[in-house]
This record gives sequence, C-alpha cells and structure tokens, in this order.
Amino acid sequence: MGGRRRKRYKKVIKLVRRVPKIFRCPSCDSVSLTISFDESPEAASDKEAHVRCGNCGLYAVLLVPLSYEPIDAYSKFVDAFISGSIDVRYEKVLSEE
Ligand SMILES: [Zn+2]
Repeated sequence: MGGRRRKRYKKVIKLVRRVPKIFRCPSCDSVSLTISFDESPEAASDKEAHVRCGNCGLYAVLLVPLSYEPIDAYSKFVDAFISGSIDVRYEKVLSEE
C-alpha cells in the first residue's frame, strides 16, 4: 500500500512543436536512442540527461543546462561521443537470452 502513485493524466497534444523522442544512436546507428532528464533538487542550473539505446545498450549521463530539450542534449551527446570525451557503457538490453 502507499507505494508509487501512478501519474495519470490526459495528454493534450499541441501541434506547435514536435520534439522527436527517439534519436539515432551514434554507436550502432539504430534509431533506438532515448533521452530522459533527471533534475536534482539541489542543482539550480543543470540537469542530468540520461542517454540510453534500446538496441545496443549504450548508456551515458551528461550534464546539461536546465533549458535543454532532448534534441539539445542529443546533439551535445553525439559531439561528446564522437570526440571521445564522454564515458559510455553498454548495459544489457532487456531481453532474455
Ligand atoms: Zn545503439
């Protein structure tokens, strides 16, 4: 009991701006890369962007300004990935063998 409260609300889709949710993975070239943000309460100016690929299992975290959209974090990640300035690891993709 108690536990997690499930957030349930109707999503109003506005046609103003469409932000792609899934990006191309620079590692495996599959369009399976998702980015989620983790805003820690004590961080006033930055948030963590968690980059995950559902295909190859790539995982990375980078710090981005609060104003960043997923697409911004994505391009920053790709830059860092290509230049080798970010630590990435490969987590097991959720599939039983
Ligand atoms: Zn990948």
